[in-house]
Amino acid sequence: MVEKLKEAIMATDASYVVLDIDGTIKDLVKEHQTALQVVVNGFNRGKKLRRKFVFFLDRIAMWFVKSGILSTNRDRQEFLLGLYAIILGKSISEFRELYDSFYNDKVITFKGVRELIEEVGKTKKVCFVTINSQNYNIKKLGIKKEDIYCVKSKKKIYAYKTVMMMNDLDPEEILVVGDNIFDDIRPAKKLGCKYLLVDNYKSKFKRFIAKLFKVGM
Ligand SMILES: [Mg+2]
Repeated sequence: MVEKLKEAIMATDASYVVLDIDGTIKDLVKEHQTALQVVVNGFNRGKKLRRKFVFFLDRIAMWFVKSGILSTNRDRQEFLLGLYAIILGKSISEFRELYDSFYNDKVITFKGVRELIEEVGKTKKVCFVTINSQNYNIKKLGIKKEDIYCVKSKKKIYAYKTVMMMNDLDPEEILVVGDNIFDDIRPAKKLGCKYLLVDNYKSKFKRFIAKLFKVGM
């Protein structure tokens, strides 16, 4: 995956590469599932059915994330965690607190991603956009801070505009790399930026959706 992505990034003449973090360089599904497993298994000893139900629901939710229909932002995550806590008959705040302590502890990036960023950074300017405030501390990813511009915004389109304004760039000088068709790619397309949709979870459904909405992969 990473080799192909590197080739695609290097093939464009865009001088700025704007990277999404969750699902693009960070394996948020694995991060989330690891934290959830620890928390749920720690709770509710002897209530196997409820635990099974939570993991079943979560698999469905993560399918939507992998297929690029949903991106996990904090609100959606909070909603899911609240739901799981209720199913398990636990206090929502207690559940979240425990989950967060594991979740914040773990940073799982896709294999080869750090090297990719370093390599691309030799010839292009690399910056990151994120709507997840936890990502703001990018040092945790093991990426050198000086190579990074961080722009935080509720909607990615504002983040892209900020990158353009701050660096006095035209849209076509920017390559947006993201995993979500609706949150990352469509706003980039709307602005006239170049874009690359990544498919780290190899979802057939995502390919179908990408075709449907005419965003090439
Ligand atoms: Mg993402």
